[in-house]
Amino acid sequence: MRKAKIVGTLGPSSSDVATIKKLIKAGLNVARVNMSHGTHEDHKKLIANIREASKSVGQEVAILADLQGPKIRVDKLHEDLELKKDEIWAIGAAKVREDYKKYDNFIPTLYEKLVQDCHDGARILFDDGLIAAEALEKDGEVYKIKILVGGILKSNKGINLPDCQVSAPAMTEKDRKDLFFALKHDVDYVALSFVRTKEDIKELKCLLHDLKMNIPVVAKIEKPQAVENLSEIMDVADVIMIARGDLGVEVGNHLVPSIQKKITKECNARGIPVITATQMLESMIHNPTPTRAEASDVANAIWDGTDAVMLSGETASGKYPVESVKMMSKIVADAEKSPNKRPNIKDIDLSNVNSALSVAASLVAEKVHAKRIISMTQSGHSCLKLSRFRPSTTVLGITNNLQTVRRICLYWGVVPFYLVEYDEDSPILKEQILDMVRESVHLKKGDKVVIARGDGTFFAGGMANSLQVETIKKAPKVVGGSDTIESFSDGKKTIKLDTHICASCQNCISICPHDIWAVKKNKIGSTYIVEANIKNCAVDFECVRVCPTGAIEIIPEGD
Ligand code: PGA
Ligand code: MN
Repeated sequence: MRKAKIVGTLGPSSSDVATIKKLIKAGLNVARVNMSHGTHEDHKKLIANIREASKSVGQEVAILADLQGPKIRVDKLHEDLELKKDEIWAIGAAKVREDYKKYDNFIPTLYEKLVQDCHDGARILFDDGLIAAEALEKDGEVYKIKILVGGILKSNKGINLPDCQVSAPAMTEKDRKDLFFALKHDVDYVALSFVRTKEDIKELKCLLHDLKMNIPVVAKIEKPQAVENLSEIMDVADVIMIARGDLGVEVGNHLVPSIQKKITKECNARGIPVITATQMLESMIHNPTPTRAEASDVANAIWDGTDAVMLSGETASGKYPVESVKMMSKIVADAEKSPNKRPNIKDIDLSNVNSALSVAASLVAEKVHAKRIISMTQSGHSCLKLSRFRPSTTVLGITNNLQTVRRICLYWGVVPFYLVEYDEDSPILKEQILDMVRESVHLKKGDKVVIARGDGTFFAGGMANSLQVETIKKAPKVVGGSDTIESFSDGKKTIKLDTHICASCQNCISICPHDIWAVKKNKIGSTYIVEANIKNCAVDFECVRVCPTGAIEIIPEGD
């Protein structure tokens, strides 16, 4: 079972329900909605489609809304501009064009403070660094620049100023609007682009705090300043993304590999999930298979310890979105056959109960060859702690909180398990949960699981303090396909029991005063409940109410 997670950017090639379903089945764990492109109307439809596809496949995915941040862009152009090597051009806000007619060649920018932030000798890069210029001197409200590498410049292309301290705020007016939109549509993660300092993340976090929204923030590391300030950014960010696209433009591609390794190592050491992004399978935008170098890039990111790998153009606008996810999943699964590095126990603060419990759960599970570590969690915090220790046993993060279920989708080595209906006070809750797990992951009699949870209550946040090794006693129920529903009728009402999902908890027997339920064995020997005496049924639905799995249905006559 694959441990590292796959983030895929959705766009024109992957926005319909049918394709998203295929992507989820191929292994997509987190869907990235890029707020830099498209309208709120498009995003609204996309988010609805993601939720619908996820529901239909029966597998949760997290949605990550990626805010554009202070990205600098070329303004609208009447026609494409041809920039030739050694030519002198002027760059400035579109509105000053009239005052600087003396320059035949003018590049309008949407970022009004570009001239103020720039300095002589600074590099100005256009269109992902394909076109390069050098700032010569300021002339009032424009900057005179010399083209170093020419090319055709189109409207709205990005501009990078790697040598300048960009004074644009961390979040633009557009970002605020995009954030409110994303929160309204219940996204699970928010990413901020072009982060420079921890203050940038804090600004977003304060805004979320004021809105009373507790949502994890992904800091995209794509500026040289962010690399310098990595440690302080990690103090405040929940997740780090190595945004190699803009990072490569800003620092030069030759420095990307070492920076990537450094960030990954630092994140692993501090237990912060890290996403490695951009151009991982770039050639699959056009081709059905990746290059060897790309396959190696994905595998090496895994071996270096990344928590997740990300696809951008491959899934958003490429010809082979589903194949890209399938291929990425295959490369990751193969890379994970080599034993993964895990943090040294001496580097983990074991005075923290949660950390100590996570380390112990991982080691016990490995030693007793447990099939799963079951982590009962409210906020997902315990799962994140477990993930950090990189256990070789898959963790099942069981939670009653839908938000947590989705967040867990990004966590390395943790599979979310949503407990929709349950009775916290039931004395046999643990047995019921074990039954459900046994069914869903096909555990056999004699298999072991390690359960990490709070001993008082199952899902209270931060309360995990106990560890148990359980041996599965019952064989899984083998009840086939459509004949799993037993139906009983006395002409006045019909009672239906789905024996496939009946957890044999006997809650219905305890609650029913009319003795209509009884334990029976089925043909292959496993137990489930069948109706014994339907005519006494008072149709009070008490058994339906207490059934933790929703296996019982009572249909009165006439319905
Ligand atoms: P982007 O971020 O795709 O939003 O530009 C990722 C990157 O720059 O690598
Ligand atoms: Mn970027």
